[in-house]
Amino acid sequence: MPIFEYQCRDCGHVIDVLVRASEPAPKQCPKCKHPTLERKLSTFSSGGNKPDNCSPRRG
Ligand SMILES: [Zn+2]
Repeated sequence: MPIFEYQCRDCGHVIDVLVRASEPAPKQCPKCKHPTLERKLSTFSSGGNKPDNCSPRRG
């Protein structure tokens, strides 16, 4: 089951929410009660350090 991280834009509180298809996503921060919860984007493994050996070398 997917678990998403939600962060409150108001107070910065972060919660883990188990999201089901039949239930709506949470909107209200459980800490400050403000409807400023936003789902955090899952961090993809970007930042590639791929080897770049395209330059031809003459020996
Ligand atoms: Zn909050």
